[in-house]
Amino acid sequence: MILSACQQEKKFENGKMQEGLKHDDKKIRVITTIAPLYSFTKNVAGDYADVENLLPSGAGPHEYSLSPEDVIKISKAQVLIENGVGLEKWLDKLVAQGDVHNESAGVGKQIVADSSSGINIISNDPHIWLSPRNAVIQVKNIRDALIKADPANAGYYTKNAEAYIKRLERLDRGIMEITGSLKRKEFVSLHSAFLYFARDYGLRQAAVIQEFPETEPTPRHITDVMNAIRTNNIRVIFSEPGVPQKVVETLAKDLNLQVYNLDTLETGAFYPEWYEAMMRANLEVLKMAMSQ
Ligand SMILES: [Zn+2]
Repeated sequence: MILSACQQEKKFENGKMQEGLKHDDKKIRVITTIAPLYSFTKNVAGDYADVENLLPSGAGPHEYSLSPEDVIKISKAQVLIENGVGLEKWLDKLVAQGDVHNESAGVGKQIVADSSSGINIISNDPHIWLSPRNAVIQVKNIRDALIKADPANAGYYTKNAEAYIKRLERLDRGIMEITGSLKRKEFVSLHSAFLYFARDYGLRQAAVIQEFPETEPTPRHITDVMNAIRTNNIRVIFSEPGVPQKVVETLAKDLNLQVYNLDTLETGAFYPEWYEAMMRANLEVLKMAMSQ
């Protein structure tokens, strides 16, 4: 985990002090970058922190750029939780400029936590959250960051993290049960998002339609995908909700394939149970698609 101390905005802190502290003002402010991190963090933080997600619902993380409001929001948080694995390149620039990592002594310190620390990374795939086994590690990193920012409530965060990890382990067992009995193990997805899921649950991503996320594939790449589909006798394409389906529809028609939507959880809603609900919904789709 990358932990870094940095200075809070002095005026803001002083302003709060002058107003006098209400209960809510004592809460630490935490910013997460993407929806799965919001779910993880909210479950650990409970009522003791104000957790806010940086990317609005519907904004994908691969091609995001920070607004001036985002920069202010980040500067006012005691803790910034990143996914890591190069997903937040638009954040690295800010961090490198020193706006976030300001090591000089001052009022308060900001902690920047890389949630991917300790995860066995598959090169160039940042979608670590799509395996609950990685999620457990991410939750531990988030717990440690909250404890560092707010040591007085270490016991509370530890207890919450333990309870949530139990739920994630239940989710993991549920996925193992279903994936273990699937008739088909190979799949084609829209963009390369499910490598961790495939690794942990004995599946294989035979091809991806988009060579690069959020980018139209070249005709040459589509030819490779079609060959992979034929060679592996694949019957199903996993697309994603809210994504233009033209390439997928053409492929499906040409090769007589069924199209299902799997959610990569890159965009979504912000509530504690969201991650588990979405993973279970994906599992239902997977079961339906790959049992035939
Ligand atoms: Zn992605």
